[in-house]
Amino acid sequence: MENRETILYIEDDPASRRLVQRVLGSQGYNVLVADDGLEGITIARESNPNLILMDINLPNMDGREITTRLRSLPNFTNTPIVALTANHSPGSRELALAAGCTGFMTKPIDVGTFPNKVKNYLNGLVEPLSPNERTQHLERHAQNLVLRLEGKINELEGANKRLRELDRLKSDFIILVSHELRTPLTLISGYAHLLDEQIKHSSSTVPTDMIGGVAEGLNLGVSRMREVVNEIISVARITSGALDLILSQIRLKNIIDKIVAEYEPICEKRGIAIRVGDLSNLPIIEGDENQLKLAIDNVVGNGIKYTPDNGTIYIVARQVDNAVDIIIRDTGIGIPVDEQRHIFDQFYVLGSIEHHSTSKSAFQGGGLGLGLAITKGIVEAHNGRIWVESEKRDSDKLPGSTFHILLPISQKAKKPNL
Ligand code: ADP
Repeated sequence: MENRETILYIEDDPASRRLVQRVLGSQGYNVLVADDGLEGITIARESNPNLILMDINLPNMDGREITTRLRSLPNFTNTPIVALTANHSPGSRELALAAGCTGFMTKPIDVGTFPNKVKNYLNGLVEPLSPNERTQHLERHAQNLVLRLEGKINELEGANKRLRELDRLKSDFIILVSHELRTPLTLISGYAHLLDEQIKHSSSTVPTDMIGGVAEGLNLGVSRMREVVNEIISVARITSGALDLILSQIRLKNIIDKIVAEYEPICEKRGIAIRVGDLSNLPIIEGDENQLKLAIDNVVGNGIKYTPDNGTIYIVARQVDNAVDIIIRDTGIGIPVDEQRHIFDQFYVLGSIEHHSTSKSAFQGGGLGLGLAITKGIVEAHNGRIWVESEKRDSDKLPGSTFHILLPISQKAKKPNL
């Protein structure tokens, strides 16, 4: 092969990368590729290419910024860097040259003439730019850089704020988990102690009804602990993207009927009515039955939790285009408008955690702040959407909350317009 020079091509479009690799590779060049600026700079430093072909519109750092950065490195003051871009707009050539490029080529490339053009740049061709034009475009380049820097700073500040908030939520979460686990643990240890005492102090055998009572108490404690642990595992799975759906054809009516039946004893105790609309005509949807049950259960459970005794929960559903909208409305305390987006975040517990009481169904009995995050994760894994409507939070006026869970009928179809 006649040419042994190394050419680095920084380009995010795989098809363009392949084409250039093929065309220049067939001429005997050693072609290296990078799909973004940071990778490109690393490869350039490692391999010291004889020429760099630079796409301009790249994510994160654009081609002009990468060029300016490379020019600041001692090894790249004279390396030919040629812009290769689909952007033909007036001034883009001058801007690229002002940023440090030695040449400017436009895409799509002409396979017949491309290798010769590259050869010319390798042989030292430098496209001219008058001092006047250079000054003018350098100024524009500098302004663009500052603008991008400002955008990045804003972005990082936002991310940092979010991280600090998450850190706070996690600390609250640790306190809540300890609290949630300690309560059933106290229950278990109390019953175990009782049994132990009975065995030690009674000369005859322990009466069966007493054992029955103790076993019931132990079971209650263990099942609450299991719920807490399962919730933590669910949210960990969802956030790590490891939620594998087991899809089947499901009837939402069956799921909702089951949930309502399970809440019946609690509702009876608290005088809460659950009114379910006619769900028999809903289309069968594709989904993971267990996960969807968990998702809907969390919302219904919250409705009960945040509605005072003698309130009502309404569940209706209707088909909207190629999706089903499940609407769960309660007559409870409502949710402040500015909090409505956050309640679906992990660990988000509205109000102070000091007033947290451990109960799944008692009025305002708190949870771990994971329920809605789990629900949102499941709904989104089904390409669906969840949102809430509520006027305000008011424990006297009880404005209530209305949750919508929108689920596509089919998982195979293109993501519906939700
Ligand atoms: P938790 O498991 O603590 O109930 P969730 O993620 O289920 O957490 O809910 C987050 C927060 O959203 C709750 O702490 C509560 O303040 C608020 N919330 C959720 N559902 C309702 C509702 N139906 N009515 C009023 N507030 C609600």
